[in-house]
Amino acid sequence: MSSIVYLDHAATTPVLPEVLNAMTPYLTQSYGNPSALHQAGQTARSAVEYARLCVARTLNADPGEIVFTSGGTESDNAAIFGAALAHPEKRHLITSPIEHHAVSEPLHTLEKQGYEVEVVPVDRYGRVDAQDLAKRLRSNTLLVSIMYANNEVGTIQPIAEIGAFCRAAGVLFHTDAVQAFGKLPIDVQAQNIDMLSISAHKFYGPKGIGVLYVRQGVTIHRYQQGGEQERGRRAGTLNVPGIVGLGKAATLVCNEMEAETYRLGKLTSRLIQRVQEECDNVYLMGSVEHRVPGNVHFCVRGLEGESLLLALDAKSICASAGAACSAGSVEPSHVLSAMGVDRDLARGALRISLGRATDESSIERAATVLTQSIRDLRALSMA
Ligand SMILES: *Cc1c(COP(=O)(O)O)cnc(C)c1O
Repeated sequence: MSSIVYLDHAATTPVLPEVLNAMTPYLTQSYGNPSALHQAGQTARSAVEYARLCVARTLNADPGEIVFTSGGTESDNAAIFGAALAHPEKRHLITSPIEHHAVSEPLHTLEKQGYEVEVVPVDRYGRVDAQDLAKRLRSNTLLVSIMYANNEVGTIQPIAEIGAFCRAAGVLFHTDAVQAFGKLPIDVQAQNIDMLSISAHKFYGPKGIGVLYVRQGVTIHRYQQGGEQERGRRAGTLNVPGIVGLGKAATLVCNEMEAETYRLGKLTSRLIQRVQEECDNVYLMGSVEHRVPGNVHFCVRGLEGESLLLALDAKSICASAGAACSAGSVEPSHVLSAMGVDRDLARGALRISLGRATDESSIERAATVLTQSIRDLRALSMA
């Protein structure tokens, strides 16, 4: 009974055994610097290039368009600041109000430097209207940055539509696909995506490694100065074991995406059904139709998400009161605010994110503990 039920896969995932096995030789045996011309270096170099090919295939990209970074945060920063440095004459950007801080903070920095950052609203499900966005495109628009799927409520954006509008207007389109990769099919060609960020630790790879896809012909300037690695696009010695792990994990999750989507769909439906049948005034946030597999987000009227989270944790169930990065903050989530959720209800936010290790029994246990905790905490607040 005391084993952990981990339901916080949107915050991070474990490294799969196959991924660890693929990485290990590059930590201990084939540790050469991939920029070195000797055998040891070239062994590492081939492993990096094979991983690059694997990632490129999963996105329908060219290997030359894949730049390895230290993760989602760096990829987002590199895309935004890189575009700004490369096109100093363009001073207008478009984004959504529900972006991850790795996108919204760099944009905020540009705003302080005099850039105009226009925010397209989302509807109550957390969706941007692509037509509305299209009307805001200008000849001096530097970049549109809209996340693929939201990390809190799991809402999927109309990426292909936005991509088509941006392409027609000749405006760069970046998407933070950290929550989407491995869960949703991505095709950078068909969806007209110019730049895209992913992070390995969100799809069963190691932490501290990610990718920025940069379409061929798109110029961004690097803002981190140093060596000529990644064809001058990202300075610093390559994280070979991380890259190998990312490549392995990417291939694995993409191959099993369809089956896993189906499996997670049944589990999330069961969880939602049980909680809503057994408790009043618990609302499922986000969209039912446009939702990333494995995401469940409830707002529980009259309770604090944080108290609920601690009650679950006491019974060895790991969930989140929203985004991991803003955990501990008392302000209600900017995502829920943008969706028009009232402050009171937003305080009762609970995100439950399922993953590969989640099975029926863990979902039944989570549902039982969650419904009991809601009843207990409500009784307590009545007393
Ligand atoms: C986790 C996350 C990031 C940050 O990725 P790191 O690799 O942890 O830096 C960025 N965007 C979204 C949507 C995320 O969920």
